[in-house]
Amino acid sequence: MKTILPNDSPKEACGVFAAWDCERAQVLTHFGLYALQHRGQESAGIAARVAPDRLALRRDMGLVSEVFSAADIEELEADAALGHVRYSTAGESSLENAQPLVVRMKSTSVALAHNGNLVNAPVLRQQLEEAGSIFQTSADTEVIAHLAARESEKDVRQSILSALGQVEGAYALVVLTPDGLYAARDPNGFRPLCLGRLGGGWVVASETCALDAVGAVFVRDLAPGEFLSIDHGGMNSAKIVDEAARASLCIFEYIYFARPDSDIAGRNVHQVRKELGRLLARDHHVEADVVTGVPDSSISAASGYAEEAGIPYEMGLVRNRYIGRTFIQPGDDLRQRGVKLKLNPLQKVVRDRRVVLVDDSVVRGTTSRILVRLLREAGAREIHLRISSPPYRYPCFYGIDTSTRGTLIASERSVEEIRSVVGADSLAFLDVDRVAEAAGGKASDYCVACFLGDYRVPVDAAEEHESLEVFQ
Ligand code: AMP
Repeated sequence: MKTILPNDSPKEACGVFAAWDCERAQVLTHFGLYALQHRGQESAGIAARVAPDRLALRRDMGLVSEVFSAADIEELEADAALGHVRYSTAGESSLENAQPLVVRMKSTSVALAHNGNLVNAPVLRQQLEEAGSIFQTSADTEVIAHLAARESEKDVRQSILSALGQVEGAYALVVLTPDGLYAARDPNGFRPLCLGRLGGGWVVASETCALDAVGAVFVRDLAPGEFLSIDHGGMNSAKIVDEAARASLCIFEYIYFARPDSDIAGRNVHQVRKELGRLLARDHHVEADVVTGVPDSSISAASGYAEEAGIPYEMGLVRNRYIGRTFIQPGDDLRQRGVKLKLNPLQKVVRDRRVVLVDDSVVRGTTSRILVRLLREAGAREIHLRISSPPYRYPCFYGIDTSTRGTLIASERSVEEIRSVVGADSLAFLDVDRVAEAAGGKASDYCVACFLGDYRVPVDAAEEHESLEVFQ
């Protein structure tokens, strides 16, 4: 079956966190969101059960540290809470799309928070609007809410479960009502979601680093296609659909997206990245004096490369931690200065030396191009760029913001052409099978659509074509 994704659909890569039956759940959720900040910096929100039958919501644009004051957190005093951090492309950023989304359904307050992208949301939205639904936001999460509201079942749990049977694509969804906490992972398991225990209560989070942040004990990852209910009656696990889908965890979570101190599917992200670096050194060795990584996400891979190659690892670039990613403005001159303010080469480390620069990915090619230039200006004699993933050729329709094919430097270029554009002395990428090997498995065990274009949940060909044309 073909599904349609319009160009204005928000591509969201977000973080979700929830606590149930925990003392000061809103404080735990606040901590959990801090730990998940890397998954989204545009907006943050917390919905909390402030009374037995009432949810209160605080959400705004900005970082977790900007959105919540100490007084906000005090006001949200609760034993159950749900939080969200959101990342989306600039044009689609608006408060109305900030989550959690809180709606009234079946005479109950319901808060929903979602990470991922539903590929059939536009079709479902259109059908719902034709049937009279009025949408407040352009976020996919609201489609789930409307579908659930129309279900004939009386209880929210069953309504959400039935609604999920109709959506396709990627979601890690967490729903809070005064009566229960529900967590769901799409049948392919594109995005991660895990369960933790805290005292007598429960915690659900996008990544295990958020469990660590609140002192919760990891219990397990949710299985692809699992719908978990936690309420006063205890815990129950159900299947969203009967047929098993092909397990398709996003391999980019290991490469770039997740935090190094998180474990996904039993593998530690830092250790996977270090192995990516080792394999990169084995497959693409080069004579050099020093190895350096692009902070922060490529440090693990760079250290693995250095260890395997027997070349010293050095801090060749320093990141200013106090500049958000939104600081970088369009326009070449300002962008160049912006990057320099954010990432500055250590002249004494790189001058007159042959440098291996390890990065985890090349998407638009902007970072590599600018960093190669900065390293040359700092006196590097040779710059050998090593990327711990394959060329990123196809847009992600399942939740990572790389939405249009024409903006991807590798979409129509050979490795040699990319090398020439970024200006490195040599360039090499890690093969997709090697990436899967480092993550523990075969490429077919993961979603690798961004590298190979083999979308596991079909995306309309017209949309792919359009995304190519608009930006060429
Ligand atoms: P680019 O400059 O577009 O080639 O992006 C590649 C750089 O951004 C690499 O240094 C990555 O660590 C980082 N990166 C990769 N994917 C993303 C993403 N979806 N959002 C933000 N940064 C990314």
